[in-house]
Amino acid sequence: AKETGKARCVVYSARQSGPPEHDISLEAAMFEAVREGEFLLYYQPIVDARTRQIQGFETLMRWKHPTLGMVPPVRFIPIAETNGLINLLGAWALKAACVQLKQFEEAARRKLYISVNISPRQFRSDKFLDVLDDALAFSGLGGEQLVLEITEGTLMVDPAHAEALLNRMAERRARIAIDDFGTGYSSLAYLKRFPISVLKVDRAFVKDLPDSPKDGAICNAVLDLAKHLGLSVVAEGVETEDQLNYLEQRGCEFVQGYLTGKPMPAHVAMAALTEDLYT
Ligand code: C2E
Ligand code: CA
Ligand code: CA
Ligand code: CA
Repeated sequence: AKETGKARCVVYSARQSGPPEHDISLEAAMFEAVREGEFLLYYQPIVDARTRQIQGFETLMRWKHPTLGMVPPVRFIPIAETNGLINLLGAWALKAACVQLKQFEEAARRKLYISVNISPRQFRSDKFLDVLDDALAFSGLGGEQLVLEITEGTLMVDPAHAEALLNRMAERRARIAIDDFGTGYSSLAYLKRFPISVLKVDRAFVKDLPDSPKDGAICNAVLDLAKHLGLSVVAEGVETEDQLNYLEQRGCEFVQGYLTGKPMPAHVAMAALTEDLYT
């Protein structure tokens, strides 16, 4: 208790104390947050670009601290990645998301999918397949309803390991999405080597559409590549009608962004799905 008090005290000055990886006070607060159940999941709709019907949700972790308020993932995920807490948080998120999807499906009365972020450290963990199997078995979800989002960087750390693991995931029919596609340092060769299903075009290439000819060219190239490789594309960070129209006209099937739905608590997502039923 003495330790905790100290941690909390320092937390108030955490903002000035440099990059998150050196933020010991926030780190201490995270362990308490796990015990207190302060982590929760938000869900952001992934919609059909043409009809705008919800196809699935991306799970985004939130930390609701009693005094700091909402701590953004950019602050706590890197710490969790460094100290290993991400394995615990990630396993919880995967299972909770699978269970939640079942309830979403009941409300929507149709099949949906859930897309879950997997950090590099989780991906490296030799327990990851067990975590995955447990989440599927516990929730009763079919593997084909699960999308695992990983970054190019995650694949490149140890390509041989990545290949083996992705093949095991494919056996479970879980689909793999490349998150923040085009922003990592890697060659395109992995698209040939690994069983990838989805490319998520980073918001960096979307935010200046339709005015930026360079971003337009990049989006077109990604859409073209995906089409020829038989992959589906989700454009991230779509905030305006102009962006949506631009992407939709160029064959982008799925979008995700503030325009079609911000990350929201489960009960709000549930309401969005039932509204869908009657419109
Ligand atoms: P990400 O996976 O690229 O997630 C997309 C981020 O873009 C989310 O930020 C989302 O709230 C934000 N976003 C969605 N639509 C828009 C939009 O139209 N405009 C703008 N400006 N932003 C939009 P968030 O929730 O703050 O998460 C940040 C990052 O933290 C995520 O980036 C992901 O890398 C990581 N993260 C979040 N939840 C988890 C998790 O459960 N596990 C792991 N390993 N990482 C997570
Ligand atoms: Ca993601
Ligand atoms: Ca992303
Ligand atoms: Ca991102």
